[in-house]
Amino acid sequence: MKRDIVQHLPKIELHCHLDGSVRPHILEQLAQIQNRPLSATGPELAAKLIAPEECQSLLEYLERFDIVLPYLQEASALELIAYDLIAQVAAENVTYIEVRFAPMLFVKEGLTITEIVAAVLAGLKRGEVAFGVKSNALLCAMRHHSHQRNQEVIESAKEYLGRGVAGFDLAGDEANYPTADFSELISLGVTQQIPVTLHAGECGCPQNVAESIRLGATRIGHGIAIQKDPAVLQTCIENQTLVEMCPTSNFQTKAVLELADYPFKHFLEAGLKICINTDNRTVSNTTLTDEYLKLHQWYGIDYRCMETLNHNAVDGAFISDQVKEALHAQLTAEYAHLS
Ligand SMILES: [Zn+2]
Repeated sequence: MKRDIVQHLPKIELHCHLDGSVRPHILEQLAQIQNRPLSATGPELAAKLIAPEECQSLLEYLERFDIVLPYLQEASALELIAYDLIAQVAAENVTYIEVRFAPMLFVKEGLTITEIVAAVLAGLKRGEVAFGVKSNALLCAMRHHSHQRNQEVIESAKEYLGRGVAGFDLAGDEANYPTADFSELISLGVTQQIPVTLHAGECGCPQNVAESIRLGATRIGHGIAIQKDPAVLQTCIENQTLVEMCPTSNFQTKAVLELADYPFKHFLEAGLKICINTDNRTVSNTTLTDEYLKLHQWYGIDYRCMETLNHNAVDGAFISDQVKEALHAQLTAEYAHLS
């Protein structure tokens, strides 16, 4: 596989966090506009935003977000970073992306959840007009937030469903907040027909994956721990659950320690539906092109496999059948001449 070909081929991304994908120069721009100096600039800032290869845990990885959050408390900032994310993905021909964010992380200076969601959607829309990339947002509840706060996120997802918001997610510290504690919250979303994808099985516990599916999630973020439990793997296969794998991030957060433990091949050969994602473009210092090239380097995947992974993403995307058909057709046409 060649970098320029991988970069130009159409790709679908379903697991990308808005606040983990703020480019350093955009953050510097926000700091200037808001007259709120950063503790570092240039390459030093970039280094601070990227999680080290040797993070000790998911928690250490998540600390990187603390640097950007103070600058994301204004509607214009949210609009700008959403627009810029679309610019980033357009540069590597991502044709459809689901962008996720936790609105409650942006309320610290008085924005309402409605203002926050509207600002992000406006940025995504402006990006679509400028670059032709279709997108939807997924609203994340946070594991460490109160039930009431998270319930507001569900209500907002319901309000904007079909108008730029396509689903709901649960993110944050999985090790200390098991999925079972959120059954009431998730059920609330499911009963309101909000599509659900949940971060689960990133931190060693396959039970969180089983619980997520039981509660109605049709997609799982990361899902690495599925490999530990054949029964959970079987449940995922039977339910055609799509697992959103994020290779670079999974090594940084210590979801896996060694390449031999990474379950990509195992999942693929078992018939589990998987797709490939960046998780956080800045914090993981990656692009979707980089992720596919890594898989090529590690496992020798070819364009055919890359095409399959993208078709899987379309199948699991929270979009209408009509939009899916168009994306499938485009993938089929543009990968056809590659061997
Ligand atoms: Zn994630």
